[in-house]
Amino acid sequence: MKHSSLPPNPASNARGPALAAGVAGNCAPAGSVPAQGAAGTQTRASRPDLQEHLLGTYDRGQPGPLFIFVGGMHGNEPDGIWALQDLLADLARSQAPLCGRLVCFAGNLEALRRGDRYIDRDFNRVWSEADLARGAESGIHEFEVRAGLLAQIESEIRGVKQPVVFLDLHSTSAGGSPFSIIGDTRQNRRIAFALPVPVILGLEENVDGALLGYFGERGHIAVGFEGGQHQGADTRDNHLAAAWVTLVTGGGLVGKHTPQGKVSFDQLRKAGHGLAGVVEMRYRHHVHVREEFEMVQGFTNFDPVHAGQLLAHESGQEIRSDQDGLILLPLYQGQGQDGYFLGREVRRFWLRISTGLRVLQVGKLAPLLPGIQRVQGEDDTLDVNPKIARWWVVEIFHLLGYRKHEPVEGRLRFSRRKSWASR
Ligand SMILES: [Zn+2]
Repeated sequence: MKHSSLPPNPASNARGPALAAGVAGNCAPAGSVPAQGAAGTQTRASRPDLQEHLLGTYDRGQPGPLFIFVGGMHGNEPDGIWALQDLLADLARSQAPLCGRLVCFAGNLEALRRGDRYIDRDFNRVWSEADLARGAESGIHEFEVRAGLLAQIESEIRGVKQPVVFLDLHSTSAGGSPFSIIGDTRQNRRIAFALPVPVILGLEENVDGALLGYFGERGHIAVGFEGGQHQGADTRDNHLAAAWVTLVTGGGLVGKHTPQGKVSFDQLRKAGHGLAGVVEMRYRHHVHVREEFEMVQGFTNFDPVHAGQLLAHESGQEIRSDQDGLILLPLYQGQGQDGYFLGREVRRFWLRISTGLRVLQVGKLAPLLPGIQRVQGEDDTLDVNPKIARWWVVEIFHLLGYRKHEPVEGRLRFSRRKSWASR
């Protein structure tokens, strides 16, 4: 199946060596402080055998952003761990003049040891408010793991004044181009659009309980990166490249001090096959019983699908697409509740418009427009009369962060997560 021809990512034209953008001044090299933990870099095995979440830190005592990079949230995705160990070793070797602090964590240690996606519950779906309230006492392995990892992350971010830059490294059971996944905020866009791979918007409305959703809701920069197929030939290198580029675009390194920045950018551009558009996630197929779900073979990420196309079988029934779009994350592994996602390309025009509207905080003014009313008592819900406000309503409201819409008594009701869209 062919890749769709996505247009260039909005930030991709003037990129390449323009990686130094966003960096707050030069950070003079300080005394030599080796990366802690890097010496423990393991020889490559298919399953990381780690005793603790902390993979290592790199900090030269210069003021700057806090970067928290995470790998191995899923036990069948070891490439992120190898890449973060590579990164720590490279930083220690090169003594790169990092402004700020980098902390690298491994996610689900026991699942990584076993090479299984998870033990009891998907570790990247246990970060919802409801699950967090259940605490560790429920006997679910991943709740216990979460308590340990969360405590360490909390102790790092406590007292940090500016948004922390989270990068969460994953891989996919299907092949295809690497891509990033973000909740659609301006600060997330800035980091994700700088990676020369496609960007998927709308994570927050389609996936409940993801690590990045949790920290994104708290106002931090949160970018997920899917580096390629599980243990694919380039997946580890793609992760490493994404990590370098994020250190630069996140304001930790000045491009000229990081030969890896340019190399990494080229690596990702090559891995992305020149695909670098923006796709809005619009549908997630939930799998209730994994054994009863079988994806049609041969899909890779970003394959175009059309309405009516057979995508999977479940409990003896055919599952067909209800829309034209692009397929994402088709499930070809033994565990998981996400059958597949469907997305739709977002044109650059709408991205520019929505950025402008957000800067102007037009979302707050929307109720002053004809045909649009705020739902009483619900700050983040608007009712739109499509007969009056008829042009591009769905497109504009989606890109203002109002991603859920449903018909209510002849009107369209749009809602968004609290305090999300203004960032
Ligand atoms: Zn994953």
